[in-house]
Amino acid sequence: MNLPHDISSYFRNIYESVATIAAGMWITYKTAMFERKVTLQYPSHDPLEGRLKDHLLFPASDPRQPFERLLGAGQSYRGPLRPRLAERYRGFLGYDEPKCISCLLCAQICPVDVITVKGVKIEGRKTKAPVTYTVNYARCMFCGLCVEVCPTDAVFFTRRFEGATFDFRSLVRDFISGDVRHERLRLAAQAKQKAASHKKGKKPQ
Ligand code: SF4
Ligand code: SF4
Repeated sequence: MNLPHDISSYFRNIYESVATIAAGMWITYKTAMFERKVTLQYPSHDPLEGRLKDHLLFPASDPRQPFERLLGAGQSYRGPLRPRLAERYRGFLGYDEPKCISCLLCAQICPVDVITVKGVKIEGRKTKAPVTYTVNYARCMFCGLCVEVCPTDAVFFTRRFEGATFDFRSLVRDFISGDVRHERLRLAAQAKQKAASHKKGKKPQ
């Protein structure tokens, strides 16, 4: 056992623990004591764009920042403020169909069966073309596993979060339209038939 090394790492651990706790507490203290608290007035304030949605609320001649106009008469904000949702915010899933290769990885990794994918082989497309890509937004827990696993970035998080509805079924979205699906199924059947007749023609007589 290397005793001096153990003793030095013991005291270094204590120092690092105290230092990191102190740094965290300082940030909490600074925020609590010196930064002014602001409630952004959603939905008048648009957190996606970081600006005022309802321009009729305040005259355009008001020189203050849009969010400051919502603070109340005579108030101004002096501390840091992010009036815009972070770019990395996990909102509803988005889907970029031309990028999708129907590999099923996103559907397989999803722990709550949110995504359904089905792809077919058609001429003119190197990889399988999706004929179904549904996302059940009611179930998604925004864990990000599907986004991480997708090899082509076809599925991604948008920053959209407004999805309240009275119709539960409307939370299931199929990104492939009926027309595109029918056309691809037709092309897939055609390609299959072509491949079968090609195979037949190659068979020794
Ligand atoms: S974010 Fe998570 S829960 Fe939502 S679809 Fe992707 S893997 Fe499933
Ligand atoms: S992981 Fe990406 S490429 Fe594969 S099926 Fe899902 S969205 Fe398409």
